[in-house]
Amino acid sequence: MSYSGPTELYIDGEWTSADDETTIETLNPATEEVYTTVAKAGEKDVEHAVSAAKRAVDRDSEWRQLAPGERADYVREFSAALDSMRDEIVLTESYDNGKTPFEAQIDVETAINTFQYYAGWADKIEGETIPVPGDRLDYTRREPIGVTGHVVPWNYPFQLAGRSLAPALACGNSLVVKPSSTTPLTALYYAKAAEEADLPDGVINVIPGSGSDAGAALASHLDVDHIAFTGSTGVGKGVMESAANNITGITLELGGKGPNIVFEDADIEAAARGIHNGIFMNAGQMCWAGSRLLVHEDIHDEVLDLVATRAEQTPLGSGIDDDARMGPVVSESQRKEILEYIEIGKEEGGTLVTGGGIPSEKDRGYFVEPTVFTDVTNDMTIAREEIFGPVLSVVTFEDEEEAIEIANDSPYGLLAGVWTSDLTRAHTVAEYLDYGMVSVNEYPVTFPQTPFGGYKDSGYGREQGREAINEYTQVKNINVNLS
Ligand code: NDP
Repeated sequence: MSYSGPTELYIDGEWTSADDETTIETLNPATEEVYTTVAKAGEKDVEHAVSAAKRAVDRDSEWRQLAPGERADYVREFSAALDSMRDEIVLTESYDNGKTPFEAQIDVETAINTFQYYAGWADKIEGETIPVPGDRLDYTRREPIGVTGHVVPWNYPFQLAGRSLAPALACGNSLVVKPSSTTPLTALYYAKAAEEADLPDGVINVIPGSGSDAGAALASHLDVDHIAFTGSTGVGKGVMESAANNITGITLELGGKGPNIVFEDADIEAAARGIHNGIFMNAGQMCWAGSRLLVHEDIHDEVLDLVATRAEQTPLGSGIDDDARMGPVVSESQRKEILEYIEIGKEEGGTLVTGGGIPSEKDRGYFVEPTVFTDVTNDMTIAREEIFGPVLSVVTFEDEEEAIEIANDSPYGLLAGVWTSDLTRAHTVAEYLDYGMVSVNEYPVTFPQTPFGGYKDSGYGREQGREAINEYTQVKNINVNLS
């Protein structure tokens, strides 16, 4: 399918080529062919976008002067504009990223729901009155932060952009969005929606560009007041250093090595379905992937059998293939890295149960077989490092205490799964897990209404839910002497 969507930068309400006219070629991971060419922002374009965003949130600007209910209307209009382009965005995401239309549909739906949810917040952002000594009125206001920068990865290009854009917009900020240069297309539909919803110029700016150039320039810009970064832990640390130098607020959503803990009293069929989704959805390219299966030793064989069978039956495909449930990984370099991890897994003593290579029926596209290793110990590389591909590592445990110990023995702490029919055990284990999110008897799951974020190396701050309102506003305390 040829692409007829937006391909230019969107700055200050205008579509424009890059200042130096450079472009990015984006590939379709299912065919390995160039899908389209997009303008590539450099430092001058970042400068241009940030200054437009700064003007858009000046105290006297149209955007800042809106009543909260009017801002809510804008966010609703914006969401409706996205909804009207839904089918086009789904196909674009599928071709640009490689994910199946089935998966892209979920992403687009989730993003639209997130805007609808935050439209509801726009006129409910309240301060507090605080009882203080003496004859005084003391209260707080929650105000917009100002210019927010959004640096987005390639694994959920549309959905993850929307996750931070929606609260930032609802809170009255202006936005500069830098999608990954690997998947630059669908973020541009946010610019189209801004045009259709008639948002004031400069409130939303979208600038595809490379991370080391446009991303670094945005993250270190002195006029950016908050950075929402989603990506790898390594790059996140650098972005945090830039933010520290500028005293800029930051939200970091980083990597993970999620444990799915299956106890001997679990519904094993349901667990097998959740384990499969948790590692093979999006070809395993998920921060919250359940890439470690911790299973009680008594049920290891039974669970492994179900999981391996499901893995082998996963229909592979992408693009217009509606029946596909797992697409290719995003690029040749990503596939190479995953295959290297598989070799390391074998060398370090893991037993390959299924998969482990490139599917023989796929002569084009960056496909990797759904892969399961057992006999893994938690000190092996494939149990410790984020592979970001369809590779599951199975580790056994003897009892509850050991399960918690293995689960927590990780630099990461994003999402953990607990599978049990014992309610007391479910709550106790959930409490002891050092994870920002725990899901009992389903995996993975999140909603626009619930906080999303990690402990330890998985990040800092929270997206989604009420928590994100706190991330994208700043508190002013006002004391009035009444005597
Ligand atoms: P990267 O960290 O490489 O890139 C993320 C974004 O940062 C991209 O837009 C990238 O641009 C940009 N970037 C790269 N270098 C810099 C820099 N020096 N300064 C500023 N920005 C930069 O991650 P990936 O794109 O490879 O995404 C995969 C990672 O993201 C995984 O580790 C995964 O766990 C994590 N992730 C976390 C999520 C969460 O919610 N916790 C969700 C999804 C992914 P470009 O691509 O153009 O180089």
